[in-house]
Amino acid sequence: MHEINHFVGGEYTKGSSSRTADVFNPATGEVQAKLAMANASDLDAAVERAAAAQPAWAAVNPQRRARVMMKFVELLNRDMDKLAEALSREHGKTLPDAKGDVVRGLEVAEYCIGAPHLLKGEYTDSAGPGIDMYSMRQPLGVTAGITPFNFPAMIPMWMFCPAIVCGNAMILKPSERDPSVPNMLAELMLEAGLPKDILQVVHGDKEVVDAILDNETIQSVGFVGSTPIAQYIYARSTANGKRCQCFGGAKNHMIVMPDADMDQAADALVGAGYGAAGERCMAISVAVPVTDEAADRLLEKLIPRVEKLKVGPYTAGDDVDYGPVITAEAKQKILGLVESGVKDGAKLAVDGRDFSLQGYEDGNFVGPCLFDNVTPDMDIYTQEIFGPVLSTVRAKTYEEALSLAMDHEYGNGTAIFTRDGDTARDFANRINIGMVGINVPIPVPLAYHTFGGWKKSMFGDLNQHGPDAFKFYTRTKTVTARWPSGIKEGGEFSIPLME
Ligand code: NAD
Repeated sequence: MHEINHFVGGEYTKGSSSRTADVFNPATGEVQAKLAMANASDLDAAVERAAAAQPAWAAVNPQRRARVMMKFVELLNRDMDKLAEALSREHGKTLPDAKGDVVRGLEVAEYCIGAPHLLKGEYTDSAGPGIDMYSMRQPLGVTAGITPFNFPAMIPMWMFCPAIVCGNAMILKPSERDPSVPNMLAELMLEAGLPKDILQVVHGDKEVVDAILDNETIQSVGFVGSTPIAQYIYARSTANGKRCQCFGGAKNHMIVMPDADMDQAADALVGAGYGAAGERCMAISVAVPVTDEAADRLLEKLIPRVEKLKVGPYTAGDDVDYGPVITAEAKQKILGLVESGVKDGAKLAVDGRDFSLQGYEDGNFVGPCLFDNVTPDMDIYTQEIFGPVLSTVRAKTYEEALSLAMDHEYGNGTAIFTRDGDTARDFANRINIGMVGINVPIPVPLAYHTFGGWKKSMFGDLNQHGPDAFKFYTRTKTVTARWPSGIKEGGEFSIPLME
């Protein structure tokens, strides 16, 4: 059986724990690898090495640190096919989607090449007589990143690229479901010139996560995953005095106004609702057509598109729209929620429950499901399903549609489809959600803007990537300097006013 181990000190190691986890092939249900699961002493050993190496890395000038990122980008492009294949094999998403996963991470590495500029501090000449004042951005030390299964390339890169280019070391704890790509990325960083103890990949579950949260050397924790775990990690790491940003689950609404281009809206909904089997935190999971007449027109276009979706393993090539969901448990949870929607009285306009694929009967495939007449009290509306299930909630007015999205506990992404600039502008201004699309169904900001939701989709203050990442991974130090020629009057005993 293939073994996957921790990547510590530039080498693979099993660690001291004998515990392992199964890594499944989601298309067949078979176990394809055994993953070493770290304990607290494995974590402590990795942190110790990282802490010893970090000061020398912080002392490397930012331009040279940025050159590691430059080389890393080149290596990602060189190994793109290999990375995408490894990613699809463990995650199940199609190869083009897996490449997108790598590219969205690569773009953050590209942004980090600008570190020398982004790390520049501020300077005030003559803040007082003979006094200059300047601020510098200094790294935190050893940082940690805990990442989810659904973007095993992109999200680790969103964390370790800015952390490392700012002069920190990082302990990365990827999802135990698809751990190979994070290891490959760490190997590429080494090949790109990163000193060996600066990026360590430690695999495991709650046991090692708790060790991270309680480790006194680790200065910050970045987390992406489900909301209950995000809330737990935020509470425990901030109680331990760490800087923390935690990104949680989502329920993204797409409002479709009666004046929208219905073909465009229907195309957007199939892609954003069912792409990656709905396992995206920015997937659209609720369609909100405004007026019954618009709802009928939308569903008339949407139903045949959903019925035509092709589901299969990534190895089937371009013929597949989406693959299996991550685990058998995830499949059962999704099917259970679909069942609850039917029981609660929603209309299952497209029923993918009995989907089965010859030769892949034990795989975690779920056929596309489309609900109409969903109401806000139903579990399929309140809960994140994280599967190929789209719910339609009919709203009578724009205000009702707006309130629906605003009242939901999650606030990651949303979209409005309309031809009316006034409505779109009003929506963007009033909605209490972090990322907004106007005729764009998955408004994931590019690397030089920041990514983050509101409400229960985010715990913390600073977003991922963009300028926020450079703030998150550095501390500001402000220096007030006066040289001896200015010191003539003796000591001052009241707060200095710089006059
Ligand atoms: P998850 O919360 O199950 O796991 C995320 C990480 O937390 C993994 O590394 C896992 O090992 C660890 N973990 C799991 N249970 C834990 C526990 N009890 N204690 C400590 N650590 C634990 O999430 P997932 O299933 O891997 O990912 C899917 C979720 O992530 C969805 O809810 C999705 O919306 C969310 N997500 C959010 C964003 C965002 O930016 N907001 C992006 C991607 C995914």
